Amino acid sequence: ALTIGIVGLPNVGKSTLFNALTRNQVLAANYPFATIEPNVGVVPLPDPRLDRLAEIFGSQRILPATVSFVDIAGIVRGASEGEGLGNQFLANIREAQAIAQVIRVFDDPDVVHVEGKVDPRSDMETIHTELILADLQTLEKALPRVEKEVKIKKRDAAELAAMQAAQAVLERGETIFAAGSKLDLESLRELNLLTAKPFIYVFNADDSVLGSKEKQEELRALVAPADCIFLDAKLEADLVELSEEEAREMLEMNGQDESGLDQLARVGFHTLGLQTYLTAGPKEARAWTINQGDTAPQAAGVIHSDFQRGFIKAEVVSFDDLSGAGSMAEAKARGKVRIEGKEYVMADGDVVEFRHGI
Ligand code: GDP
Repeated sequence: ALTIGIVGLPNVGKSTLFNALTRNQVLAANYPFATIEPNVGVVPLPDPRLDRLAEIFGSQRILPATVSFVDIAGIVRGASEGEGLGNQFLANIREAQAIAQVIRVFDDPDVVHVEGKVDPRSDMETIHTELILADLQTLEKALPRVEKEVKIKKRDAAELAAMQAAQAVLERGETIFAAGSKLDLESLRELNLLTAKPFIYVFNADDSVLGSKEKQEELRALVAPADCIFLDAKLEADLVELSEEEAREMLEMNGQDESGLDQLARVGFHTLGLQTYLTAGPKEARAWTINQGDTAPQAAGVIHSDFQRGFIKAEVVSFDDLSGAGSMAEAKARGKVRIEGKEYVMADGDVVEFRHGI
């Protein structure tokens, strides 16, 4: 399954956020190594289109797409050398497809900062440095072998050049993800470098930041072109204890129109390069997860592998057209329902019925 690994220095609010994500009440201790066991939290991707489909089709239940998060044990300076929880940290993070880095920007004299002061830039660099050092180790191990393979013509010299270019980027203190477009990522894939994974930054903020567009823009510039979100992990933990209506009121009181968890799910989903298509009937209205660029048979395969093999055609209507028409019959009458074949590339929000020969 696709997962996003949550990382960050100790005491930045990872456990608090993760508890909110899983609605678990694990004790978030004010203690550097509180988070030891990696856990997975599955979060529904908010999608108001499903409510509308359920209304149109009289569906009994709604099944949104989900995003999975893994809570990865605290990283500290020196983690790449196996200090603290280093080795376990690196093994867990290697399995995640993207990295969400939690950065503390809240002020609270009662919460110890592991580096002595709240400094988002320095915290970010500490984490980057550990990941970069781990990647450099991976490269140093791989390069002699790759060089040998090039010499005996078992491998293309371009691949070696790509790895050396990556090494130079890392030695400059840059992540592969940030340098992305300048590198031949395809040749680096086999190394599964940590800093090649897409990054999202989660600023765990207080009112002074949540209420200031200016401060947010400053922080956004710090991580650009990566995506970032701003939330208050403590508020998020409180929100999950409330009813939907109460939660909405509390968000409004805090001047926000979407919860941090919803934002995180949305941005995470996007960062993973995913999109959804929709199916609906009297039983359920459901969102299915596919990769951007997937074809209709690939999309059918997410429901059942037989549907991919036996794919004949897909009946497709865009959500907006269907919602505007108000019923499938009306959408057809308006000529909005298309028959698509094997080559069709799915669009986000396609409402689909597959025809298959099984
Ligand atoms: P972790 O070590 O990164 O997992 O951090 P925790 O989630 O355990 O949080 C460390 C401490 O900071 C706990 O006492 C939390 O209650 C507190 N904390 C977490 N998020 C916030 C926040 O947004 N604001 C404030 N004031 N405290 C927070």
